[in-house]
Amino acid sequence: MKVTSFYPGPATIHPSIPSLVKDAYEIGILSANHRSPDFMELSFAAKSQLRSQLNVPDDYDIIFISSATEAWEILPQSLTSKTSQHFFNGAFGLKWAHMTENLGVEVVKSSFDINASLPTDQINSLAEWLCITVCETSNGTMVDQNVLQELSSQRLPHQLIAVDATSALGGVILNFQLADYWFASCQKCLGLPAGLGLLIVSPAAIERGRLLGERSHYNSFLNLVEHARKEQTHYTPNVLNIYLLWRTLAAGPYIAATDRRLRDRMVGLNQMIQSNGALDWLVPNSSLRSPTVITLKTADPMALKERALAQKMILGNGYGAWMETTVRIANFPAMGDIQFRILMEWMSNL
Ligand SMILES: *Cc1c(COP(=O)(O)O)cnc(C)c1O
Repeated sequence: MKVTSFYPGPATIHPSIPSLVKDAYEIGILSANHRSPDFMELSFAAKSQLRSQLNVPDDYDIIFISSATEAWEILPQSLTSKTSQHFFNGAFGLKWAHMTENLGVEVVKSSFDINASLPTDQINSLAEWLCITVCETSNGTMVDQNVLQELSSQRLPHQLIAVDATSALGGVILNFQLADYWFASCQKCLGLPAGLGLLIVSPAAIERGRLLGERSHYNSFLNLVEHARKEQTHYTPNVLNIYLLWRTLAAGPYIAATDRRLRDRMVGLNQMIQSNGALDWLVPNSSLRSPTVITLKTADPMALKERALAQKMILGNGYGAWMETTVRIANFPAMGDIQFRILMEWMSNL
């Protein structure tokens, strides 16, 4: 039996990937130039699928980049003149704040407790961007779309919102209208091999880019936008992953169905955890938990991971401050319901 990886990224990829890679090879797209009509058609098809499956608004631009980390960099580099505010409660949000600081932007750091809701009343009037991590992969917490709505309604007119949706996009329903700069990489909820990032931006974000006019980097925002609008890229992109994105989205259900399926699995897991008593959630309040990254407290994570591995299941390490006390388990869409049930059965006998 093959080992199943529940690591929260890179995670188990869609089981259809091997045959889709073969398709990509056979139709010749992997040898096509990225300014050719074939590539442009693929780019258009992949973005159209994203729009229809994930409900991306028509007036938002979709841009292919290499990773979420790259999106962390583009924001301070091309879209911020002086100050941004970062709300975070874990390692990924903090790293993003640090990178922004290292690029010379003044960062207002608004950290909050993992057991608290994001403090929407702490908006700093100097901030041009309000940055949030919708699912903090290091601790399994999530900023609910209602909280984002609140942040969106309380911001000042000049303030835009940036959302790291890396462990959410493709897994949960996102209301893109509530923010201006969304990004994710494809090895989490999209169930693809690593090496492709998505940037989804509002007309207001593009206007901000035009105002600042930054064009001195290989991935300067305006350069990315202008090529994306022609269904091209100025660098040589990850064509294979764009192809796989298109095909897996086209074969998959609408985001509402995926969201429901992941939440149902969480409900089942929660019932099991409450009746069993061997494991507990890191975050007791279920409304603060992400449906995509399960983070459980355990006295001996190492021993638990070893026991799981003996059953051919890889559990994820805790991350950062929670390394020694938690394990993390991906509840991503590409993971089959059967694999998830096997995991639950094993856990219920601990
Ligand atoms: C995984 C992850 C990243 C980094 O993604 P890369 O593809 O390695 O750049 C950033 N933010 C969050 C929330 C993540 O989960």
